[in-house]
Amino acid sequence: MKYLVSGKAKDIFKKSNGDLIFEFTDRVTAFDGKKKAEYIQKGEITCRVAEYWFRILEEEGIPTHYITCETPTRMLVHHLNIIPVEVIWRNFVAGSLIKRYRAGEVVLPYGVEPEEGASIPDGMIEFTTKFEVVDRPVGKEEILSNGWMSEQEIEYITNITRRINNILSSKLKEAGLILADFKVEYGRNPKNEIILADEVGTPDGCRFWDKAEYDKGNIKSLDKDVFRKDSGDLNAVYVELFERMQQRCWI
Ligand code: 5GP
Repeated sequence: MKYLVSGKAKDIFKKSNGDLIFEFTDRVTAFDGKKKAEYIQKGEITCRVAEYWFRILEEEGIPTHYITCETPTRMLVHHLNIIPVEVIWRNFVAGSLIKRYRAGEVVLPYGVEPEEGASIPDGMIEFTTKFEVVDRPVGKEEILSNGWMSEQEIEYITNITRRINNILSSKLKEAGLILADFKVEYGRNPKNEIILADEVGTPDGCRFWDKAEYDKGNIKSLDKDVFRKDSGDLNAVYVELFERMQQRCWI
């Protein structure tokens, strides 16, 4: 096993047969790596949550790079040629969307209130760069002109991301959670098929809101926003999310 590279929260190794090993670490970063910390249990929680969603999505017929977990923090995945675009799905106004709206950099879908927590009834997809120092929103034209994806691939990825959203959102609803938004990444296998890559459905890459609190007009985050905003103990929040999933016998 050869060390390949470290991402913000994962260390990546390559096996002699070409498969990759993701070691989920306890590292947490925000603001493009400018804010950093470590929390015990984070690696295990994110790995086990991602494993749960990969299995559910595979059962639903969505191809993913997941093979198996070798330890509670170590995931074996197929090596893919990663598409250099991050895909964001939003069901609610939050995070960079409201900041960019206030800066006049983005238009909200028709009828959507310009405030944090407002619902986006049909959802919306956005794309950002992956391999630049700072993730930057990119439009369809730039994706096409850089040859990052074809028109058909953008359409395929939009449809599959919408399906992922529907699957995750309806499961999370059973646990009293709202999926406000999330990020996914895709890659191509040697047959040029588009496969879900990286991790999915973890509190590092999603916004999860407590539904009961939302209905009372409050946003209670069970995700990395707690770290971004210094609004609570990230470990306690990740453990709460994990336990709510465990209580449903999901994990
Ligand atoms: P925003 O654009 O509002 O900052 O993020 C939208 C969603 O995508 C959030 O759920 C956020 O956690 C996720 N996201 C955006 N960029 C990244 C990233 O670089 N890494 C991870 N893990 N998630 C991201």
